Amino acid sequence: MSPDRPLGRPAPRTTSGHYDRSVPDCLFCGIAAGQIPATIMLDGKRTIAFRDINPQAPTHVLVVPRDHFPDVAALAAAGDGLLDELVGTAREIAVTEGIEASGYRIVFNTGQDGGQTVGHVHAHVLGGRPMTWPPG
Ligand code: AMP
Ligand code: ZN
Repeated sequence: MSPDRPLGRPAPRTTSGHYDRSVPDCLFCGIAAGQIPATIMLDGKRTIAFRDINPQAPTHVLVVPRDHFPDVAALAAAGDGLLDELVGTAREIAVTEGIEASGYRIVFNTGQDGGQTVGHVHAHVLGGRPMTWPPG
């Protein structure tokens, strides 16, 4: 599958203690850098959105920060407004996909039991059909 770093292993840190901005062999760093092809929906300064390769709904778009953070908790801890921006980008996708009024789901799978398979934080934006609850 992806050549991504296995979950559970921390991303390399710089001497200042921050996560490296780009991690070698990270699938979503590669997409953000334009080195790995994807269907880009929104190409922002700090965030990028692209279609999920295995869509689970009529709209299934992933929104990621360009910089590497392993999961949403690490992104929140960075505390520089990037998580807000990520959710704002998710809303923009909902608008352009025409699902803002009908509703949509934003999902951050986190860690092993959360079902996270790519260790670069990503918001799933899912919509275009009614979502069920509880999730599988
Ligand atoms: P998660 O399981 O929450 O970590 O989500 C990872 C998502 O990335 C899955 O929904 C995959 O279908 C998706 N995915 C994996 N490889 C690619 C790729 N090359 N381009 C777009 N989406 C991908
Ligand atoms: Zn990455």
